[in-house]
Amino acid sequence: MIADFHMHTCFSGDSKADVDNVIQSAIKKGMKYMSITDHNDFEFENGIFELDTEKYFEYMSKKKIEYKDQITLSVGIECGLEPKYADRINSLLNSYDFDFVIGSSHVINGKDPYYKEYFENRPVHDAMVEYLMSISENLDIFDNFDVYGHLDYMMRYAPISAEEKRYNYDEYGELFDEILNKIIKKGHGIEINTSPLKSGLFDTNPNLQVVTRYKELGGKIITVGSDAHEAIHVGHHFDVAEQMLLDAGFTYFNVYNQRKPITINL
Ligand SMILES: [Zn+2]
Ligand SMILES: [Zn+2]
Repeated sequence: MIADFHMHTCFSGDSKADVDNVIQSAIKKGMKYMSITDHNDFEFENGIFELDTEKYFEYMSKKKIEYKDQITLSVGIECGLEPKYADRINSLLNSYDFDFVIGSSHVINGKDPYYKEYFENRPVHDAMVEYLMSISENLDIFDNFDVYGHLDYMMRYAPISAEEKRYNYDEYGELFDEILNKIIKKGHGIEINTSPLKSGLFDTNPNLQVVTRYKELGGKIITVGSDAHEAIHVGHHFDVAEQMLLDAGFTYFNVYNQRKPITINL
């Protein structure tokens, strides 16, 4: 795999990674394309996830030029999608010429599944249903993104064993079909996010069944990202992602430049 399209640096509230270290790590690992996709989530955790977009965009645009002979750096952003911030999100995304936008669900009705309160007093199944329903609602509201991030992100943090997190597609089949069809109809894509594998979980976000179903339903655009928050995790477990793509019937994956998908054959 020669492209990592989801990674964070010290511009994100939850990363201390030095930008040059992240870029150089990608180059060392043989990447030809990469996108740094720092977080913007409005008004969450006292605003620590609000990106200083002006500074970020200017800085990354310089890095893009600085490293252009070694790697194609797409200036990206991972935008937390929440209906109540729709206007602010759209105006932020319209104000900068990003190369790549990941739309993600991090905060669901005011709660982040990263914290155990999200799962309190209900079965994991119900928490997952709420999560997927909110993605489906977001898809009726938002169009300004390229791929939807880590579709089953909340499962990373569910208070159950790694084995129990391996849900069957059919358990949420209707909701997933609805989500995947909406994404396809909009002409957008999904990502394979390998981050859970580094903490000992068995499945990427989302899992192989979801990716396979996406292909069956006619999904064409797919990116691969490590969600690295440290330089060492760039491209982590991309061997697994590559095999997943093949198993799901993909002979390629995508990168983005100037918000346009580019196909890279496996
Ligand atoms: Zn995320
Ligand atoms: Zn991320």
